[in-house]
Amino acid sequence: MALQDAQWMRHALALAERAAAEGEVPVGAVLVKEGAILGEGWNRPITLHDPSAHAEMIALRAGAAALGNYRLPGATLYVTLEPCVMCAGAIVHARVSRLVFGARDPKAGAVDSVYDVIARPRLNHVVEWSGGVLEEECGAVLRAFFRARR
Ligand SMILES: [Zn+2]
Repeated sequence: MALQDAQWMRHALALAERAAAEGEVPVGAVLVKEGAILGEGWNRPITLHDPSAHAEMIALRAGAAALGNYRLPGATLYVTLEPCVMCAGAIVHARVSRLVFGARDPKAGAVDSVYDVIARPRLNHVVEWSGGVLEEECGAVLRAFFRARR
């Protein structure tokens, strides 16, 4: 694991804590290009009354607005949880170069746990990806959140 990957994943984890503080499922995402933050987000569907307000979507929207481009070549998206079908689709649409996620999502993960939206060999855009970066820490934030709600 690259040192930088762990560093950015820690940043995404801090964003996930902000979601938890708002009563949202704690997932955080940061979009990085050439060592600088392009956009970041945390899960906010309840707060924003928006089913698409996942951490990844918010980070992608912020990054695209910052660049003035709906495509984000050369960017890496770090997210604490394996993206869902919607977010994985948006990552492909945005032409993100690389995806790094923390915990796997055995119930809804769309990179390789349940679906393989990112890795379909016939897609014309290939997203390089790695999973399991700070997997333990990323999973622990989610487990603590759901434990506290029971
Ligand atoms: Zn999602």
